[in-house]
Amino acid sequence: MSKIKAITSSNSDHDRERALDALFNQMVEDAEVNIELPSKGKFYADLDKIVIEPLTYQEEERILRSKNSGTAAINMLLTNCVKGVAVPDLLQMDKLYLLLKVREVSYGPEYKFSVACPHCDTDVSTEIDMATGLNITQVEDDLEDPRTVKLPKLGVDAVVRFPRVREESFLTDGEDTIKNLHRFVMSINGNDDSVFISKALKRLHLIDVKTVIKEVVRGEYGVDPRFVFECPHCKGTATMAIPLDIDFFSVS
Ligand SMILES: [Zn+2]
Repeated sequence: MSKIKAITSSNSDHDRERALDALFNQMVEDAEVNIELPSKGKFYADLDKIVIEPLTYQEEERILRSKNSGTAAINMLLTNCVKGVAVPDLLQMDKLYLLLKVREVSYGPEYKFSVACPHCDTDVSTEIDMATGLNITQVEDDLEDPRTVKLPKLGVDAVVRFPRVREESFLTDGEDTIKNLHRFVMSINGNDDSVFISKALKRLHLIDVKTVIKEVVRGEYGVDPRFVFECPHCKGTATMAIPLDIDFFSVS
């Protein structure tokens, strides 16, 4: 009588883990994407090689359940999926970029969504290849943080810096931005006293305030969510923006 070989029962925990690793290793490699941070990684003290891991099913479920607290859910998602940089330290330009990359490794580069045509009001299903369809602007090599900006009306220099993800709650709307702007201004006319800076900001000419905000935010860097929409019904075109928020992670 021939002996029946035990196949399944001979698996030790070690063997099982090894088999699982072998099974899923290939997938992890497939998920690797090209990471070129908009900031070029210039403004981080501890920057390791950035690795993006795809969302797990559990993670996606958690995000869908927590739809109301968008910012917290997004940051948690980044913490779980992005290795090599501390999420609270991220610049906004890099945050959106990494979000895009997490989506790309999780669902692929095609993003399908529907928009209402601004000309004929028809709901149009459209899709964009996020790996190639969006413009991404990197900082110049000589950009610094903090950096100096000249206030055009007052005629003096201010030193400002980029906000980080841990500070994003200070900049949620226009009123918050004005109230919290002093946090991102290191000095005005060489004076770095925080009370002086707060009071000076309140008295600045509108043009100077706008100059400071523009320099703090530098919105020209990072992912440009705009794309040119062409309506198949009325043939009209429009510049529209894809939503770079939590909706991005609900795949239908
Ligand atoms: Zn149309």
